[in-house]
Amino acid sequence: MKAMAVFPKEKAVRLVDHPEPEIARPTEVKLRTLEVGICGTDREICSFEYGTPPAGSDYLVLGHESLGEVIEVGPGVTRVRPGDLVVTMVRRPCPHIHCPACRADRQDFCLTGDYQERGIKESHGFLTELVVDDERYMIAVPAELRDVGVLVEPITVVAKALTEAWKIQQRLPWVPTSIPGPGVAQGQKAVVLGAGPVGLLGAMGLRNLGFETFVYSRSPAPNPKAALAEALGARYISSETATVDELVEITGEVGVVFEAVGASKIAFDVMRVLRGNGVFVFTGVPGRKGAVEVDADLIMRNLVLKNNVVFGSVNASRENFEAAVRALGDFVHLWPDEVRGLLTGRFPIEEAPRLLTGRASGIKEVVAVGGRT
Ligand code: BGC
Repeated sequence: MKAMAVFPKEKAVRLVDHPEPEIARPTEVKLRTLEVGICGTDREICSFEYGTPPAGSDYLVLGHESLGEVIEVGPGVTRVRPGDLVVTMVRRPCPHIHCPACRADRQDFCLTGDYQERGIKESHGFLTELVVDDERYMIAVPAELRDVGVLVEPITVVAKALTEAWKIQQRLPWVPTSIPGPGVAQGQKAVVLGAGPVGLLGAMGLRNLGFETFVYSRSPAPNPKAALAEALGARYISSETATVDELVEITGEVGVVFEAVGASKIAFDVMRVLRGNGVFVFTGVPGRKGAVEVDADLIMRNLVLKNNVVFGSVNASRENFEAAVRALGDFVHLWPDEVRGLLTGRFPIEEAPRLLTGRASGIKEVVAVGGRT
């Protein structure tokens, strides 16, 4: 079957003929891949900065943002049936008995670093025609979300980051201990750094929780991302037309900053927008381009004197995936055109090498492996 592969040693990216996977255990499920989203991580893997093939293979099949249709199930499968739509989780646990995270099914918090990630680290991904995996790593997606279901995985980044931020705020006795749900953050403010797919999905998540939301990103408005942000009821501010000081003046102090850009200097500069007890969450992974200059004394002073929390968030648990499916349902209900507007192009698998190595265009590009382009 066709698969999109990267050969790190050869420094090559091309389609390969990959063996079809078969169900080998009772709890395994076979999927026909419908769609796979392309993200910054895939592009980094295709510029050979990241990504590792499975042991014994000289290539890695790419793709970790997927939507598939169940076509066959093992005899022990109880959660899904043929015809169901599913999104498959990315990370698999490390084998170490002493890793409390992986032993508790929270490989997103793995302590050893010996986890595997499908399409990223030591395990083939989903940019191919058929996929087999255990049902415990699959999350059912309602049929009515067929055309946008490929957004579930990037939404899990938002779901984990905001859930963890909410848990951190349980340190404050007056914050309700419930899980964050629509409207809970009415009257509070948040800044999103970056207007890529994760930034815009973060803005949807924050708006859905009730935050007055500001999106701070490079390109000056008007542009399609700015228009999308504004359609969500967020305010778009360009870093080319407003400095960080001007941003702080416009937004006032905010309770949450959701970073989704992977540029460290601007992120550390924007930290001063946080109010007392505010939380800053990093989700971007910057390339290492050398040291950057930041006002470390000011940052440390503020962190201490304002009881700020800064934390990083990567990957997602099963619970975060389930929350992401629910959030996607909410987003489609609230902003049907904007959610669909995030998916700016659908291409056949033959075009995947160009999509992965050429200039990124649009917002989220999708490879329609087994379906409509
Ligand atoms: C994926 C995560 C993964 C991370 C680091 C992201 O693009 O969404 O699942 O953990 O990259 O490899």
